[in-house]
Amino acid sequence: MSNSAYNPYETAQAQFDGVAAMLDLDEATCEFLRQPMREYHLTLPVRMDDGSVKVFKGYRIQHNDARGPAKGGIRFHPMETVDTVRALSMWMTWKCSVVDIPLGGAKGGIICDPHNLSEREQERLCRAWVRQLARNIGPVSDVPAPDVMTNAKHMQWMLDEYETIHGGRYPGFITGKAVGMGGSLGRTEATGFGVIFVLREALNKLGIAIDKTTASFQGFGNVAQYAVRKYSELGGKVVAISCWDNGDKKAYTFRKASGMDIDALTGITDAYGSIDKAKAQAMGYEILPGDAWISQDVDILIPAALENQITAETVNSISKQVKVIAEAANGPTTRDADKVINERGIFLLPDFLSNAGGVTCSYFEQVQCNMNYYWEKGEVLDRLNSKMTSAFLAVYDMAKSKNITMRDAAYVIAISRVAQAVKARGWV
Ligand code: GLU
Repeated sequence: MSNSAYNPYETAQAQFDGVAAMLDLDEATCEFLRQPMREYHLTLPVRMDDGSVKVFKGYRIQHNDARGPAKGGIRFHPMETVDTVRALSMWMTWKCSVVDIPLGGAKGGIICDPHNLSEREQERLCRAWVRQLARNIGPVSDVPAPDVMTNAKHMQWMLDEYETIHGGRYPGFITGKAVGMGGSLGRTEATGFGVIFVLREALNKLGIAIDKTTASFQGFGNVAQYAVRKYSELGGKVVAISCWDNGDKKAYTFRKASGMDIDALTGITDAYGSIDKAKAQAMGYEILPGDAWISQDVDILIPAALENQITAETVNSISKQVKVIAEAANGPTTRDADKVINERGIFLLPDFLSNAGGVTCSYFEQVQCNMNYYWEKGEVLDRLNSKMTSAFLAVYDMAKSKNITMRDAAYVIAISRVAQAVKARGWV
């Protein structure tokens, strides 16, 4: 699904370079921050259920840990590339910095398609990844979490492997665990809810009533499902959702002009966010091509799938009605498309601000693990709401005062904090 004509690492570096020039950073700081500090490239032999051994490629890339232990998810994807993981690790550093939590940035990946692996095979793969990294990751150095096609189950297998190797209980080693296994209430909802908390603030600034708006989503995994839920709760109407169909090996857009019933829809969706086409049709949904989500006449677009989805080729199909794009995925917009969006005056909520709710709640999860005392769900979500709201307001004020885009403003805040930490440590 990712668009291989674009390299996310080049995008991430170009975004960094643009803002670094504005910030007057010295050459060494720029050179240091525009690439990862450490990379682990892994070869993972895994025993399959039929007795054969299959060899997988895996990665862990730590972009920067000046502000705290490196933090970021691990994703399973058949098209994963090392440059994608590099870009994602950079974006994690900026994400933790822009919401001002004391963590750095990292990302992991395994090239695989979990649709084609049994539960036991996935467990062995998770354990193999941790076995090779056990000395280089941990609660005070690098803390993994779920990402595309990974969930609490994978995190718990990884935790168990890590604890078995180190001979103790280290619940702060990994986040996104189930409640009762050291997980935090609200973590599953956090990324999607966080997107809508910042969208709510943006609409407020723009003088648009959320309950008069319509939206179209790309993706229906964990992030999109909870974003749809919160947006609908606030009165917004979701009219289109695009998602991947593993049977047909292509994406479809599901449309219902009268709006979506989120409970009915999740009832016909598999664990990886694929909606059952036949059942959706029976429920009255129109089935359109996968890319139709972007050309809908709606007020808000929410790309919540993978990187490189709004490109020079697709950006011009965005309807004149669209006022806001809230990037829920990491890196969904290419540099050339970004320019067009800006010229058209569409208000863009940049990925590492709008999807920071997940890692913010991961941080709360670690805090709770360290205290061994767990908060009520309301407390978690209230804290999330206030963190996301203040991060949005800081970025908005920066954008206004410097007359720059929201993306550049988020970068200015995030990069300045990391550059300061790097200097304070005497690294550059
Ligand atoms: N994978 C999520 C992200 O891209 C969450 C990372 C985390 O919780 O560490 O932000």
